[in-house]
Amino acid sequence: MGSVTGSFSYECDDCGVFKIYSVENSPVIHCSSCNKKLGTIPKHWSLNKSCPFCQCKSYYKRKDFNQIIGITIIIVGAILSIIYNYFILMGFAFLDILMYYIVPDVAVCYKCSAELRGFDGMDSLEVFDHHKAELYHYSQDGK
Ligand SMILES: [Zn+2]
Ligand SMILES: [Zn+2]
Repeated sequence: MGSVTGSFSYECDDCGVFKIYSVENSPVIHCSSCNKKLGTIPKHWSLNKSCPFCQCKSYYKRKDFNQIIGITIIIVGAILSIIYNYFILMGFAFLDILMYYIVPDVAVCYKCSAELRGFDGMDSLEVFDHHKAELYHYSQDGK
């Protein structure tokens, strides 16, 4: 234990390839397509620290929709038998609640939109703030 076990998604500045990377093996992240060095994620990195890619320090969290489909299939399978025995409406209400608790949060960098999963500090993040986002986009030169 003690090592970083999270993963993140990032779009390469050079070739535009968007990919999910794991940081379990190496802290230095290279683009899988053009091999450009994207950033370094040190051991014990957490969301209290600045973004490994753009040094921005603000993140928001949202539900990780990339994982919803897989989770939905599992839940639906498990719940079908329940619905079979109870009212369908109750089943769907239950599904809603279950989705809320089971779908994991992902942290997203305000500036470079890197998606960071499984790191410490997720709980203290706030949801997307439109004004904050504008702030970061205005401070970005010409992009
Ligand atoms: Zn690249
Ligand atoms: Zn960033």
